[in-house]
Order: sequence, then C-alpha cells, then structure tokens
Amino acid sequence: MTTKIIAVANQKGGVGKTTTVVNLAASLAHHGKRVLVIDLDPQGNATTGSGVDKSSIESGVYQVLLGEAEVKDAVIHSEAGGYDVLAANRTLAGAEVELVQEIAREMRLKNALEPVLADYDFVLIDCPPTLTLLTLNGLVAAEGVIVPMVCEYYALEGISDLVATVRKIRQAINPRLDILAIVRTLYDSRSRLSQEVTEQLQAHFGKQLFETTIPRSVRLAEAPSHGLPALAYDGKAKGTLAYLALAEELLARS
Ligand code: ATP
Ligand code: MG
Repeated sequence: MTTKIIAVANQKGGVGKTTTVVNLAASLAHHGKRVLVIDLDPQGNATTGSGVDKSSIESGVYQVLLGEAEVKDAVIHSEAGGYDVLAANRTLAGAEVELVQEIAREMRLKNALEPVLADYDFVLIDCPPTLTLLTLNGLVAAEGVIVPMVCEYYALEGISDLVATVRKIRQAINPRLDILAIVRTLYDSRSRLSQEVTEQLQAHFGKQLFETTIPRSVRLAEAPSHGLPALAYDGKAKGTLAYLALAEELLARS
C-alpha cells in the first residue's frame, strides 16, 4: 500500500477538523496502520489532544518547514494514540512570516515528507481554519482532502469555497489533489435541517459524501483535556465508535 496523505480542511472554524484528525488517527492505528499526524495549526490542538505537551516541543513542524529539522528527527510518538505527531505550538505562526521570503515556500512540507513516506500508511494533516501559507503547504503535500462539516443552513456555501480552492491548487500546483470525503460532524439525525443538507450533499458530492456520520458526543469533547484520543479515554462512547466506523469506511475505499 502506498502512503495516503490526507489533509483535513475547512475554512470554517470549529467544525471538528482537529477532533477528526486525532480520532481518525487513533482509529487507523487501532487497525494496525502506521500513522503520522501533522499539526499545521499554531493553536496546537492536535498536538495537545494527542497527549504531547506543546510547551516542550524542541523541534516540530515549524523547524521542518524552515529546513532546520528533518521530519524523522522531529516526530514525537503519541503513546495515547499509537501514532506519531509532528507537533505545533504558537511559534508556528511565525513560520508563516519567515516562509514568505523562501523559495518554493508552498512545497516545503511536501518535500520534507518525501524521505519518511515509506514509514507510514497514512499521513493526516490538521489544517487551521484559514487559507494561509500553512494550509497551502498541507494541500500541496496531500492527495486527498477530508472535509468535516456541520449540517447548517449555510454549510453548502462554506464548502463551495473550499471546493474552489482545491480546484485552483489542482490546476496550478498539485494535479493529484481531490476531495476524498465529506464527513458530517456534530450530526443530529433527528433534525430536519440535517436531513435536508444531507440530501443536497448527496446530490452535489455523490460518493464523496461518506456514509458514516459523527454524532455530538460529550466524550469526544472531554477527551482532549486529558490529552487522550477518545478511543483511549472511553472506548465504548458513541463518538469513539463513530470514528472507528469512519476509519473502516476510509480503509474500505483505500
Ligand atoms: P478550529 O477551526 O478552531 O481548528 P476545528 O474545526 O478543528 O476547530 P475542533 O477543535 O475539532 O474543530 O472542535 C471544536 C469544538 O467542538 C471542540 O471543543 C471539540 O471538542 C468539540 N467537538 C468536535 N466534534 C465534536 C463532537 N462530535 N461532539 C462533541 N463535541 C465535539
Ligand atoms: Mg482545529
């Protein structure tokens, strides 16, 4: 199996990008897959949620992007998650500024990943909720994009911006980039709006709309404060089981 590099992106904030990265990574690891999580968000939530102390990072994605460290030396193993993490903290915001002057600045992550690809089955990239140079590095390195979304009234409009961005990047820099999956998060199957948005998504995206939905689950929200993916925090919670099912759907399609 060749390494699947997947960016988890949506420029809308708080839709479950980081929750999806952490819990999908733990679920894929549970299935015996070798997984690398890359935290491209200066908020460092995927780092913390994987049980890695973001204040103590010596090298992480910042040093890698600036060519000061190799990925293999910068990764930290998440014991709680069973996967590796290329960590981030606030300093990453500075990389944005420093990168602007560098040559091939949007190719940095892609090039840095090349030497370690044989070590992993999946690379999951947590993007910040903005189209910055950091997100661009994620989308240039990736072949697939997973888009977590909440089924709200304006959800489709929000997603069409991302679809346009993906198309532009495909045409200009990364011809293999495509939307791999739309994942409905914080999903309430009883709400009529959820059902209406689902119908629109099916019409628009067909098979790209994953069947698995992620319900609102208190355990998913609590787990990061313990530095644990939900699988390690409460293996039987409905949110945990939903992410295990999402991993299975992804594996079945890979
Ligand atoms: P940002 O755009 O700020 O990076 P995000 O898209 O990464 O946000 P998350 O951080 O994953 O979103 O989730 C936002 C908040 O919602 C968090 O507090 C998280 O714990 C909570 N959350 C995410 N998914 C669920 C869920 N299925 N059930 C309950 N809470 C959830
Ligand atoms: Mg996030």
